[in-house]
Amino acid sequence: MHYGYDGKVAVVTGGSSGIGLATVETLLQSGASVALCARTESRLNDVAAVLIRDHGEERVFARALSVLEPGAVKDFAGSVEARFGRCDLLVNNAGQGRLSTFEDTSDEDWRAEYELKLFSQIHPTRAFLPMLRRAKGAIVAVNSLLAYQPEPHMVCTSSARAGVQNLLKSLSVELAPDVRVNSVLLGLVGSGQWSRRFAEREDQSQSRAEWYGALAAKKGIPLGRLGNPAEAAAAIAFLGSPAASYITGAQLEVSGGLSRYI
Ligand code: NDP
Repeated sequence: MHYGYDGKVAVVTGGSSGIGLATVETLLQSGASVALCARTESRLNDVAAVLIRDHGEERVFARALSVLEPGAVKDFAGSVEARFGRCDLLVNNAGQGRLSTFEDTSDEDWRAEYELKLFSQIHPTRAFLPMLRRAKGAIVAVNSLLAYQPEPHMVCTSSARAGVQNLLKSLSVELAPDVRVNSVLLGLVGSGQWSRRFAEREDQSQSRAEWYGALAAKKGIPLGRLGNPAEAAAAIAFLGSPAASYITGAQLEVSGGLSRYI
């Protein structure tokens, strides 16, 4: 599907894998030039080489960095401006969840999780804001259903996710009318995180389809399966696009119907 990004520039943090990579591909297919970042340089370079082969060098820019380093993020924004001259969409996607209960979460773990969840939004937003304002652009944050429906086995991720959602609501008011701010609330999407958990499964004889199917049944996902990264990317691309021009401060659930609240 084409989401109408011809001539636009998008930035995707955590663009080398899973949902971020699917978002980069969807945006490129929709006409955007895309800048992506992630920490692991070798994987980022491999991904960028394929994207450049498929979409052309002039439309792809990759930089290895952590979104938790404000100086590196600021430099990245400067390079994007030098390279493309503008930024119409920022997708704050970088990160991962933390499996832990209250009893096995140390103070250090709490601090690290809050730092990751909040500053992965704060640093890129601050760095790209001048360009986003000039372009009357949009921010789409990748957040989790855990923000509204916490799970005891992901206690600090759930709590930090709720804080992020609160921050996004404030941003949607403070940055209006120049910049729209929305989020996707993901349930279980079969990306890098779940591939790693699948690789560490207790019963190594279980196939991926069996393990994912059992997981969907255990979680009670009404659509009966995990989502695909491309399905999350479609929601992100929509919220950032001109088709969502009157939507700000909203969240779109992409979970196969997993939420239990109205
Ligand atoms: P993946 O592990 O497949 O991708 C994560 C991406 O983020 C990678 O490119 C990774 O690259 C990058 N990344 C991680 N930390 C940093 C950092 N500090 N700075 C820059 N890049 C970073 O995971 P998903 O696609 O599943 O996750 C994407 C987002 O969706 C995450 O925020 C995750 O928490 C969220 N989410 C996912 C769900 C799911 O079911 N998949 C459910 C709910 C939320 P590198 O490691 O090289 O830095």
